[in-house]
Amino acid sequence: MAYSVRRHFLHKGTARVDFVETLFNGGQFVTPPRILVMHFTYGASARSSANWFRDRTNPGSSAHVVIDRDGSVVQCADFQTVCWHAGRSRLRDIIGLNAHALSIEIANWGYLRQAGAGWKSHTGVAIANPVVATHKNGNPEGSPSPCGWEPYPEVQFLNAAAVAQALVAEYGVTEIVGHDDISRGRKWDPGPAFDMLRFRARVFGDRGIAGDNRLRVMASEGLNLRAGPGTQYSALELLPVETILDVLARDGQWLSVSVIGPNDRPRATGWVHSHYVADT
Ligand SMILES: [Zn+2]
Repeated sequence: MAYSVRRHFLHKGTARVDFVETLFNGGQFVTPPRILVMHFTYGASARSSANWFRDRTNPGSSAHVVIDRDGSVVQCADFQTVCWHAGRSRLRDIIGLNAHALSIEIANWGYLRQAGAGWKSHTGVAIANPVVATHKNGNPEGSPSPCGWEPYPEVQFLNAAAVAQALVAEYGVTEIVGHDDISRGRKWDPGPAFDMLRFRARVFGDRGIAGDNRLRVMASEGLNLRAGPGTQYSALELLPVETILDVLARDGQWLSVSVIGPNDRPRATGWVHSHYVADT
């Protein structure tokens, strides 16, 4: 499953991956992109999204790579080219991420609608066994809370990580963020079904958690510190947004953490769900 980049095109082994060139781009990067933004497509397939990026009725959206549910990959722009995936966005002092970031779209229906006892996509496709969760920035307007989110198949997740590794190797990408980290309250992708900490750990190796393992609470309504790795364990306290945590260990989507107090010393330990925390 190893990918590499040659002359700004993605290869799997010796073969170039499918290329469906977008009509929409912002010319060449002026400064080398060191950030990777992860998205979901809110659509049916990688091919349908790639075709949308070539559709003249599209007001102008594009991304470098789209990854399908079966793990197959379509490239839509070479990696020297600015794509239009981030829109209004901000990361620290960087405003407008398109000019600074590469992009991976993952074919996924995103947030779902309740249909009887189950969940369906905005187009009416029934989704079995969704992740039922509240987004760290609050759910999209009109969605129930918690609401269903389409899960990402493991083969899709692993191929996305392998593509990201190739971008790290070729371009020295140092940071991976979600669209929901840079366009808060406006975008919800890749959302709670995407395990961003596991993704970063897989792409960067241990750097994803070890090394700089300091995180902060993102959930505006606060985050439960629990006695164990699951919602079946009792809540010890509600940690306010921006609480600083040190990661000690990991169990699936759950993190064992020390809660850092005002004097920069650990004041409590427990478990939190990884979706609701982010890098400091
Ligand atoms: Zn997006």
